[in-house]
Amino acid sequence: MTEQNWAGSYTYRARSIHRPDTVDAVRRIVAQVPKVRALGSRHSFHDLPDSTGELISLEALPRSVRLDTENRTVTVSAGTLYGDLATELHRAGWALGAMASLPHIAVAGAIGTGTHGSGDRVGSLAAEVTGLTLIDPDGELRTLAADDPDLPGAVVHLGALGVLTEVTLRMEPTYEVAQYVVDDVPWEYVLTELDALTSAAYSVSIFARWNAPTVQVWLKSRDGEAGLPVGTPARHKAHPGGRDPVNCTDQLGEPGAWYDRLPHFRMGFTPSSGREIQAEYLLPRTHAVAAFEALRELGPIIAPLLQACEIRTVAADELWLSGSYARDTVAIHFTLAPEPVKVTALLGRIEEALAGLEARPHWGKWFTTPAAAIAGMYPRMADFRALVRRYDPAGKFSNAFLQRVVLGE
Ligand SMILES: Cc1cc2nc3c(=O)[nH]c(=O)nc-3n(C[C@H](O)[C@H](O)[C@H](O)COP(=O)(O)OP(=O)(O)OC[C@H]3O[C@@H](n4cnc5c(N)ncnc54)[C@H](O)[C@@H]3O)c2cc1C
Repeated sequence: MTEQNWAGSYTYRARSIHRPDTVDAVRRIVAQVPKVRALGSRHSFHDLPDSTGELISLEALPRSVRLDTENRTVTVSAGTLYGDLATELHRAGWALGAMASLPHIAVAGAIGTGTHGSGDRVGSLAAEVTGLTLIDPDGELRTLAADDPDLPGAVVHLGALGVLTEVTLRMEPTYEVAQYVVDDVPWEYVLTELDALTSAAYSVSIFARWNAPTVQVWLKSRDGEAGLPVGTPARHKAHPGGRDPVNCTDQLGEPGAWYDRLPHFRMGFTPSSGREIQAEYLLPRTHAVAAFEALRELGPIIAPLLQACEIRTVAADELWLSGSYARDTVAIHFTLAPEPVKVTALLGRIEEALAGLEARPHWGKWFTTPAAAIAGMYPRMADFRALVRRYDPAGKFSNAFLQRVVLGE
């Protein structure tokens, strides 16, 4: 098989990718085969979704979006892309509180790794989940409602518990966002006024190069004009990686629907396979300044491989394997050149610099942090392993990534 992930950095080794067009057909495949995993929109950067047996893509399943306006929730088929869900919600007068940088990511895959956007009071995409339905190893449907004690363990699922068919998310009345970019914000301001900086708008992203004296800040505001007491408001549209901004959502204070401003990139634009490798570390807010100082020391070795670096904040949640579990978080993301050997060496240096700062690697991106260190950063890891044993006793949904990084004790 020659099918690859979005970035082209990984070729799936599974025997085949099935594309069933009914939930019953998915159930039959799951019940019949010894090893199987679900494949989302392929935005993870390594072998996380892979299986030694079969892969099931949900892309041919009918899309469904069911609103419950009384309880302010939406139940969506698991393979739906966030951008498609967002358009439907907005049309009906509703919205989500959070979006990732890109709207092209599937709901089940995104929540499965704790995918997040930014905002001091904005939780991850997973934190919006109030229920889900999955297919268990016998092909039976199992629904976890909001009050199910397993739900907090099952949302950031890493594909380990079954094939999700539906996800229920919180929604709120639709709203507008205006986006402002501020150039030349001194590092000194970031280091001394971080709380003021990250609370200057509903969603704030800091783009850093680590070897420069200033950063660029993106402010996404729900309450009109937003700015900073330092730096220079941008007069032209910006791109997170400094490239042509044509595919970026509108900036310069032009208000627009939430789903066309919270992501940096437009839904209408279909990104080609990206020549890049991503890595990200999620740290307690309290360690943010120490982490920035350590990374600035590494500026000269980061810069040559760096395409973009984005610093975001995420509100604490209660999801066992979430990068923001039980702590308000600062997430430091790196888009790096597609040079695996050099990137692996660099990540080792970055992780060394962040040692002791409880830097949880993003599950869907590259890292070299050893499994034992990762387990030590997740207080509910033993509970998650027990949940996996209970839901999938024969390891039908297990794979090399899970054994290497999560389940191997
Ligand atoms: C360009 C780009 C931008 C990104 N932006 C962000 C960002 O802003 N914030 C952030 O936090 N991350 C971001 N990511 C990372 C990305 O959101 C995660 O890797 C996410 O998990 C990818 O979801 P996917 O649907 O593509 O899943 P895949 O990579 O296909 O799979 C991810 C996991 O989900 C499982 N899975 C998928 N569907 C199902 C299902 N139906 N049932 C059970 N398991 C399932 C798979 O088995 C696998 O374990 C980005 C990645 C890229 C390439």
